[in-house]
Amino acid sequence: MTDKPVPLSEITSYHAHIYFESGEGRERAARLRELIGERFVARLGSWHDKPVGPHPVPMYQVAFAVDLFPRFVPWLMLNRMGLTVLVHPNTKRPRDDHLSNALWLGAMLPLKGDILPVKVAASEVEELPEPNTSPTLQP
Ligand code: ZN
Repeated sequence: MTDKPVPLSEITSYHAHIYFESGEGRERAARLRELIGERFVARLGSWHDKPVGPHPVPMYQVAFAVDLFPRFVPWLMLNRMGLTVLVHPNTKRPRDDHLSNALWLGAMLPLKGDILPVKVAASEVEELPEPNTSPTLQP
């Protein structure tokens, strides 16, 4: 932490991680995934039915562009179907991105933040992956 504010230009993209329990929770997560794909240009990531990386429970990731935040995140607030969602920026500081600078919709989960690097080189900041959705509906 320094007293110099971090400029917004440090954020290259965002992730929303949609967490779920197996069974009925997974069905809700699948329905939410469909709704997202119908409404937003984003990258829907693979299903992780086992905990992966810092994430303590099953989830899938939605990667989205900076300019989508003001429409997509409020939509998730209204439509997350009771699922817990972690929204975090992608910058050169992955540990802060997940632990200090994230926002949670629903109950906060304990992330395994110590496996994340504190700092990465600019060239290693996660690029926004190619979107794989083709929205047909207005949010
Ligand atoms: Zn992420």
